[in-house]
Amino acid sequence: MTSNAMPLSCGSHRAILPFTLLLLFVVGSWSPQSRAVDKSVATQPVRIAVLKFEHETVTFLPYDTELEDFIFEGSPARGEALLSASSYDRSRSSILGFVQLAREHANVELVGIESPLGSKKGSGSGWITKEAFDHFVDNMVADLKAQGPFDGVYLSLHGGMGVRDVAKPEAEIARRVREVVGSKAIIAGTFDPHGNEDADFLRYADMAFCIKYYPHYDGYLQGERAARTLIRAIRGDYTPTTATRKPPIITASVLQWTGASPWMDLVQRALVWEAREPDVYVNFYFGFAFADVVDAGMAFQVITNGNPELAEHIADDMAETAWRLRDELVHGTKVHYMDEGVKLAKQAIKDGRTPVVLADHSDRSGAATWLLQQVVEQKLGNTLIGTVADEDVIETLRAQGVKPGDPFDMEVGGELDVSAGKPVRITGTVQTVSGGVSRGRSASQLWVSVKFGDNNLLVISPYLHQVRWPEEFLDLGIDPDDYKVIAIKSRVHFRRGFYDNGYARTILLVEPRQPFLGTVHLDALPHKYLQIDKFYPYGQNVTYP
Ligand SMILES: [Zn+2]
Repeated sequence: MTSNAMPLSCGSHRAILPFTLLLLFVVGSWSPQSRAVDKSVATQPVRIAVLKFEHETVTFLPYDTELEDFIFEGSPARGEALLSASSYDRSRSSILGFVQLAREHANVELVGIESPLGSKKGSGSGWITKEAFDHFVDNMVADLKAQGPFDGVYLSLHGGMGVRDVAKPEAEIARRVREVVGSKAIIAGTFDPHGNEDADFLRYADMAFCIKYYPHYDGYLQGERAARTLIRAIRGDYTPTTATRKPPIITASVLQWTGASPWMDLVQRALVWEAREPDVYVNFYFGFAFADVVDAGMAFQVITNGNPELAEHIADDMAETAWRLRDELVHGTKVHYMDEGVKLAKQAIKDGRTPVVLADHSDRSGAATWLLQQVVEQKLGNTLIGTVADEDVIETLRAQGVKPGDPFDMEVGGELDVSAGKPVRITGTVQTVSGGVSRGRSASQLWVSVKFGDNNLLVISPYLHQVRWPEEFLDLGIDPDDYKVIAIKSRVHFRRGFYDNGYARTILLVEPRQPFLGTVHLDALPHKYLQIDKFYPYGQNVTYP
């Protein structure tokens, strides 16, 4: 084993020297060969700082994600409030998994550093402002300084963050944290598979653990793995060595369902490597194509216990396998145009193949009306549409003191950006008025549903909402079983509540005919930072390795 094996083969990345020094230090201090885990080491007191800063940023949306978007009741959070902060789905919360497992160890103290819990707009807004990013990272750094020293740091990250004037935000967070905690501390992060990552995060941090499934079933599990491995590394029982590969493949999120081949096969291959080689972790980042950042696209990271050659070997195997499967990865999913999808839904009703899910995968703002337009135009009945986001309509209704039974005649949705389409006039009756679907953020919102046409119900929310389970409608006072078609804004997440449990008998993925933001036509996006023609399937002569 040579300490420079990894930096040399990752030669395209900058600052090899500092990393080599860091690696020498790590290897020198915690060589796995010399590990002697006597009882005193295994129970030595450990202090770990816990931080969270997650956002999936659709940088092509024309309005920024601002400081105030991250501030709502309960956010930012610190101390126990951060450590117990659940997202809307416990299984997705890496922090909860991290805390659970860390607390199974003796003498491990966790310190929740002040962190934002997310954006109230979800991923329905554009570039995060530099001001917002600096505000939270400065506060984290100050809190780390005030409460240090620490033996380790856990960063709950996403990887798909886009910040104005910060090329690689997650690496920047790790860099700033490293400055405070020093070279001796071990830093581990957890990530979303929609992270746009390369080797830079691992220049400043030691380990990363990425969610493997889409829908994201294993956030909790990856948090547990991060905790176990971080504590082992702090106590000298794990020496992280890493390798990173970026095969030049870029795909829209709708294509990345891991319930079908070949995405499933790549996940399976990662799992097999983890099964056959103890202490190996294989991260498969699908990438997030709607952030215009220099490190967008697919990536693999492999973490091994003091075995850089093995890390390199597995990283090559994963990346070369993905490259072999590139055609199927890109072209294996059927996506219908809106008008065709609505026609097929009508046919499915005739054939009794209901419930039908019409999933508009393309809407990134939440305000898109393409599907609603087609429902109205083709007179599709018995359809529950959730949701069309329209903050102005919601505020108008709030001012009017809206209540069930009120007549409704307004233009809804559209216009937030060109990809949202035109507003659609809906005439009907208000059916429900509620605080919205709980997103675990306790920020109560006003959501209104309107009955119109032939037993159709339109749910209007203030912001983008991705329905994942039919039961979410029950939160609003709506029984999804009263409808034959459920028209939602989701790419893959909905499969947990509509497919994996056998609920829907027909699933139709739809998008507008125009190559707008959010469609699979990624080359139609106005990139400023990413060179899309360097990626399969958009470039002419893209090769790998
Ligand atoms: Zn994701």
